[in-house]
Amino acid sequence: MAKPVKHSKKRSKRRNKRSMSGAHWAVLFVSTSLFSVIFFLISDIAQATRVSSLQQNGLLGLSTASIRMVNLPLEIPQYFDKESFNDESLDKEIAKPAQSKPKKVSMPKMKWQTITVKKGDNLSKLFSRMNINTKELHKIVRLGKPTKTLNLISPGEELKFLLIDNKLQEMIYEIDDTQALHITRKADEFVAKTITTELDKRIEHATGVVQSSLYMAAQEAGIPGSMTMELANIFDWDIDFVLDVHTGDRFSIIFEEYYLDGEKISYGDILAAEFINQGNLYRAVRYTDNNGHADYYTPDGTNMRKAFLRNPVDASRITSGFGKRYHPILNRMRDHNGVDYAAPTGTPVKSTGDGKIIHMGRKGGYGNTVIVQHGGKYQTLYAHLSGFAKGLYKGARVQQGEIIGYIGKTGLATGPHLHYEFQVNGEHRNPLTVKLPGAAPITALQKLDFRLNTQGYITLLDTLSKTAVAQANFQ
Ligand SMILES: [Zn+2]
Repeated sequence: MAKPVKHSKKRSKRRNKRSMSGAHWAVLFVSTSLFSVIFFLISDIAQATRVSSLQQNGLLGLSTASIRMVNLPLEIPQYFDKESFNDESLDKEIAKPAQSKPKKVSMPKMKWQTITVKKGDNLSKLFSRMNINTKELHKIVRLGKPTKTLNLISPGEELKFLLIDNKLQEMIYEIDDTQALHITRKADEFVAKTITTELDKRIEHATGVVQSSLYMAAQEAGIPGSMTMELANIFDWDIDFVLDVHTGDRFSIIFEEYYLDGEKISYGDILAAEFINQGNLYRAVRYTDNNGHADYYTPDGTNMRKAFLRNPVDASRITSGFGKRYHPILNRMRDHNGVDYAAPTGTPVKSTGDGKIIHMGRKGGYGNTVIVQHGGKYQTLYAHLSGFAKGLYKGARVQQGEIIGYIGKTGLATGPHLHYEFQVNGEHRNPLTVKLPGAAPITALQKLDFRLNTQGYITLLDTLSKTAVAQANFQ
């Protein structure tokens, strides 16, 4: 490191020499010649001395002599061209600049300090612990929105402070892996900015064969539990993941992973998936439309979530709505968890959605009842039926609009009517107003874009499927 500095000094010296006047050059020439003669003479003597000293006095006596002689040229004027000599010690002596003591500049104390949030801490406590004036804190709080996140600091989190002479200059709070709040001094005020780091998105895939459970198989394939749940959600209109999954079922998933500086931070969405349930192939691809709405579709563009009919009976009138009502038979107020449709006995009752019959038979005050499970989230119930549709049984799959039974007045009913209930995640909802799952298929307009965006994943699923088959055969 010291060397370049020395060189630059040399260079500036040389530049000075070049601007010397003619008179100086004459003096230089004479003195140089003179010196050269003296030097060579001396060095000749030295050489001779050296040889003889070596022979006579040994090494120590010689070196003393030679040092003295080399020191001699120091008496020569400053503009002496030292470069005509190749002597290191000489060079050093002459190159030494006139030393002046460096001026003392007082540097402000500047350092980043990290403080860890403890239990019960808030911003005000942290500032006082850092000995920062509370006025500064007020200025920061006044910045509003971006600094609101500072109210959410929790134990274990860190805040970084840059202080100059105990005055806050900068503050950094890492909100999460990708977002950081930067507060910077600007004159007497502060500016706050949330800086977002872009994550690298990578597309990964995994494939597995169910041995004991889907959860275990997914875990073995390196898929986290949350993604296994998502996989089940995508297919839950077609597959009962509690009862229908068997040993030998196979799956493949194409999914996103997010990386920050080469380190995996989180999982993204499932982009495509395949599930082979007891020999039946189910496939789904994720597609985001122009409005930014993402959904899962079959490769031909049918929505994975199925639609519902609003009403299970065609020609009828609603005699009792959803909510509290006076029960004519029980003679008291009670919740009415469904809607009553009055129609003549024998009027067909239809399943409002695709699903699986999970109850078919008597059910207390409900009389003859059918309960249909639709995907993992929805259930519909049809009560007081006079009879059930032929060929149906508990566990049978039904389609939207398929007749499941006929209106009657079995159970606690005063006259023939259908009592219809709609449940979302186990909670009763008003069948007439409940938000039914949007299950629109890919439109003709979207078809091309849909194909362009999903074809690659479908091809990859084909490849993965073969791998899964090979794996299954191997095991
Ligand atoms: Zn009812």
